[in-house]
Amino acid sequence: MTANRIFNFNAGPAALPLPVLEEIQASFLDFAGSGMSVTEVSHRSKWFDDVINDAVTRTRRLLGLGDKFEVLFIQGGASMQFCMIPLNFLAGGGTADYVNTGTWSTKAIKEAEIQGCDIKVVASSEDRNFAYIPKDIAFTPGATYVHITSNNTIKGTQWAAFPDTGGAPIVSDMSSDIMSRPLDVDRFGMIYAGAQKNIGPAGVCMVIIRKDMLDMVPDTIPTMLRYSTFAAKNSMFNTPPCFAIYTVQLIMKWLEETVGGLEKMEAHNLAKAGRLYSLFDESDFYYGTADKDSRSQMNVTFRLPSEDLEQAFVAGALKEGLGGLKGHRSVGGCRASIYNATTMEAIDALIGFMQEFERKNG
Ligand SMILES: *Cc1c(COP(=O)(O)O)cnc(C)c1O
Repeated sequence: MTANRIFNFNAGPAALPLPVLEEIQASFLDFAGSGMSVTEVSHRSKWFDDVINDAVTRTRRLLGLGDKFEVLFIQGGASMQFCMIPLNFLAGGGTADYVNTGTWSTKAIKEAEIQGCDIKVVASSEDRNFAYIPKDIAFTPGATYVHITSNNTIKGTQWAAFPDTGGAPIVSDMSSDIMSRPLDVDRFGMIYAGAQKNIGPAGVCMVIIRKDMLDMVPDTIPTMLRYSTFAAKNSMFNTPPCFAIYTVQLIMKWLEETVGGLEKMEAHNLAKAGRLYSLFDESDFYYGTADKDSRSQMNVTFRLPSEDLEQAFVAGALKEGLGGLKGHRSVGGCRASIYNATTMEAIDALIGFMQEFERKNG
């Protein structure tokens, strides 16, 4: 490990692959022979065109998007998408279904309600503090879209498989699990992800949108809030977040060339999460907060026997170079976010610390 770098289990912004950070550092002062840093070149230059086009091409290849989808980069984070989705797809009428699986779904629902859209919350796991993913959902026939949060960053749950919506396109917030596993993209009308969990730094949201969904976008809404504006201008109607997009490009390159694709990424992620969950299953000291069949492979949420022990755990871990293990302030407890960039070495270090802590305090 490079000097002074901790094992970073932050939920977001989160750990990025070390080789990517090193590449950014090495090319920072003279980017692609331009004699400028990537934060200084024009977004209308060939240098930046190459960056954004390569990011899009690699995203298409990794997910097998073919030419049915556009790949867009939009600012405002995933939170901006909560408002843009109903604004773009329901302005002309129509209804949408939402599944409420936690904090972020709740916020997405609220933004559609603020706009007075005709939406229906067809399932929710709020009755048990969002510890599970609902099953056997009755979706509304003819819904314009079905909104789900594929991975619930705060509650530590994840859709293991996507629901049968009866043909309605799924619109999924994949902020915390995009590119962590292969997808059957034909099920989706749109996928969006704030980059800062799994694919880059804060400042950009990746939006993958099926081209026919763009036909619904009305020209009565503000230009900068229309998906069609971003699609028509290769995400450069105005100045894009160049540095964030550049980092996303390097992450896509890392996924393709170093990891070897999303099947390999998924296998690695399953192995990492599996080790932590089997530790819970064997322990009377640590217990997971999510139902077994709904466990997230990205955000592993857990509790210890008391809040005092949880505090001591988080503080003690940090002393050993293991950072970011405190649960979200809205739920308490502990959480290890183990995104794509988290190495098995980090998991080994965490498990070693957990075993030692249990030995001393169990
Ligand atoms: C972090 C997160 C968000 C919020 O993302 P911003 O980019 O900060 O708006 C939304 N949804 C999920 C699932 C998240 O994990």
